[in-house]
Amino acid sequence: MPSRRPLVAGNWKMHGLKASVAQFEGILRGCTRVRGDVDLMVCPPATLIAAFAAAAEGSRVAIGGQDCHAEPSGAHTGDISAEMLADAGARAVIVGHSERRTYHRETDADVRGKALAARRAGLVAIVCIGETQAERAAGQTLAVVERQLAGSVPDRAQPDHLVIAYEPVWAIGTGLTPTATDIEEVHGMIRERLATRFGRPSEDMRVLYGGSVKSDNARELLAVGGVDGALVGGASLKAEEFLAIATAYA
Ligand code: PEP
Repeated sequence: MPSRRPLVAGNWKMHGLKASVAQFEGILRGCTRVRGDVDLMVCPPATLIAAFAAAAEGSRVAIGGQDCHAEPSGAHTGDISAEMLADAGARAVIVGHSERRTYHRETDADVRGKALAARRAGLVAIVCIGETQAERAAGQTLAVVERQLAGSVPDRAQPDHLVIAYEPVWAIGTGLTPTATDIEEVHGMIRERLATRFGRPSEDMRVLYGGSVKSDNARELLAVGGVDGALVGGASLKAEEFLAIATAYA
C-alpha cells in the first residue's frame, strides 16, 4: 500500500523581514488544528531560514529553502548551497520553480543538478514543473510536463528525498486554476512516468498541485485524484489563510 502523507508547503518567495517571524509563529500556534497526518512546511527567504527553524524546533512544521546552487561551496557570489540551507535548519528545498526557470533561465539540467545537490545535503527536493499558457493553448501540456519531469528529476530518486509539484505557470499568482479534470490528467501522467522510471518506490512519491491555491478552493483542489497536497505561494503569507488551506484536509 502506498503511504503518501499529504503535504501543504508554503512558498514565501521574496517576502518577509525579521518581523515576519510573528506571522510564522501564528502558523506554529495554529497547526494543532491541522489533521495529524498532514505534513506542513514553510519556505521563507534564505535570510529567515535560521530564525524560522529555531522558532519551529520541536513543532510539526518543517522549513525549506526556495532554491540552491548545485555545488556544495565555491566562488559563486550570492548563491546558497544545499548544505548551507541544511546547516541553517532547512529540511527541504524548492528547485525549478517557474520564476527561477523564467527569470534565471534555469534549464531542466540545472534543476536536476540542484535536486542532486539537495539529496547530497540530506534535503528533500521539491521539483516544480508546469506548462505556460501558450503551451496549454497549443495542446502541449502533457508533452511539456513530461519533458520537464524526465529532465529535472535525477536517477535513483526515492520518495524520502523527492516531491514533485505540478504548477501550471499561468495559474501562479493569477487566481486562475485548471479544472479538476485537467489536474487529474496531468497528475495521472506524472504518476505513470514515475512508476515506469522508479518502480514500486514511486508509489510513495508525493505529487503536489500549485497555482492559486487559497482557502476558498483548497477543499476542491486537494480532493482531486492524484493530488497529494499543495505548494502555496501568496496565500501562505498569512497564518490564518495558510492554516485554512491545510485544514481543508478535514
Ligand atoms: C507558487 O509560487 O509556487 C505558487 C503556487 O504561487 P500562488 O499560490 O501565489 O499562485
